[in-house]
Amino acid sequence: MSDTPNKLIEGATGPWEIVLGLEIHAQVASKAKLFSGAAVGFGAGPNAQVSLVDAAMPGMLPVINRHCVEQAVKTGLGLEAQINLWSRFDRKNYFYPDLPQGYQISQYKDPIVGEGAITVERDDGSIFTVRIERLHLEQDAGKSIHDLDPNMTAVDLNRAGTALMEIVSHPDMRSSEEAAAYVKKMRTILRYLGTCDGDMEKGNLRADVNVSVRKPGGELGTRCEIKNVNSYRYIQQAIEYEARRQIEIIEDGGAIRQETRLFDPAKGETRSMRSKEEAHDYRYFPDPDLLPLVLDPAWVKSIQKTLPELPDAKRARLAAQYGLSTYDAGVLVIDAARADYFERAAAGRDAKLVANWTTNELLARLAKDGLDIDASPIPSDDVAGLVKLLEDGVISSKIAKEVFEHMWAGEGTPARIVEARGLTQVSDTGELETLIDGLIAANPGQADAVKEKPQAVGWFVGQVMKATGGKANPATVNALLKAKLADT
Ligand code: MN
Repeated sequence: MSDTPNKLIEGATGPWEIVLGLEIHAQVASKAKLFSGAAVGFGAGPNAQVSLVDAAMPGMLPVINRHCVEQAVKTGLGLEAQINLWSRFDRKNYFYPDLPQGYQISQYKDPIVGEGAITVERDDGSIFTVRIERLHLEQDAGKSIHDLDPNMTAVDLNRAGTALMEIVSHPDMRSSEEAAAYVKKMRTILRYLGTCDGDMEKGNLRADVNVSVRKPGGELGTRCEIKNVNSYRYIQQAIEYEARRQIEIIEDGGAIRQETRLFDPAKGETRSMRSKEEAHDYRYFPDPDLLPLVLDPAWVKSIQKTLPELPDAKRARLAAQYGLSTYDAGVLVIDAARADYFERAAAGRDAKLVANWTTNELLARLAKDGLDIDASPIPSDDVAGLVKLLEDGVISSKIAKEVFEHMWAGEGTPARIVEARGLTQVSDTGELETLIDGLIAANPGQADAVKEKPQAVGWFVGQVMKATGGKANPATVNALLKAKLADT
């Protein structure tokens, strides 16, 4: 669904197109698990958050967590997707040491959410659409730990039974950049909705990437699935490697085997994990312990009313209301907290200036120190204060950068810093005139040069700035120099 030319990869036999579809596993923001009352949390001691249901003790029965269902519906509404008022849980049967039931409770033929779509921005600002095939609820498995003991595998079931939303896209992405941009956008939407915290480091948002290659416009190729990639960089590296691998095999006369592969970040390679199983291998069947999930349309409507302003709408509003570029507005809406910060600072101020200081200076400094905007040492009021000093001509933008550094160091409000450090701009014409007269008298050669070449006035501006420690008002200096050099 790209509306700009696809990025092609050059092979020995000509160009190839990458076709990508993603399955995102997003952990539902919930205090309890999907079918038990056990707590969900990161960092608890091993097996400290496991109920008898999660441990699959005989005779235990699952009970659906209403909050998790609400979160899935809310997400479906946020993705402008079909909400299925009738859905069902199925058992997906397979054995794994960290899956004590011997099956995963998931949704197969009848997921809670059907077709939807999201728009995604590429780095160059262009936009493409990714269609969502479905979103279903399912349980997470536990964790096998292989590096505690040389001869044994340890199992931690804290994660077992945690609610996941599996969001399946159509194969609408054509480059590793598009895939990363899609995951970023999905993460932003989920965080706006408050249905998943999007913490990729903790594994709360991870992607399975389906990769195939084809000649442009040709038949879809056989795909390989790369499991559980949990950073944007790894997603891109895994795709780039995997596409090249497939192209080389096909160009050497081979065929791609459908399989599940693992990405090894240390080597930057994917390697075969198991031959890909088909859906029928799992012997899905409706879970007899659970009734079909039937939703009241009035309840769905009441959830719709709780939806916040979503990123696309917020970007359009910020651009229109504050006269920002789509790009700047896009940077601000990546995180709802950023947009809130901007709007607080922009109230009654020059919004474009506020946006510049927020996106260029503040966000860059926060990124450098690995901080979220919520942890910014500079409150939004102080960005507003800095912009006011600029608007009033009290400081130049050069001095503002210096003031910003002191703000970052926690020296107080911008007004206090300017006063305490004597950084007020010199707009006093008399003081500047004396300085300029002296400079012209001492440098007649430079003054003549300006008559030949007006741009040479920059040299004088530089000298005045140097002499005033950057505090001279540039507009005043330019006006005075123009008048005086024309007179001589
Ligand atoms: Mn899944």
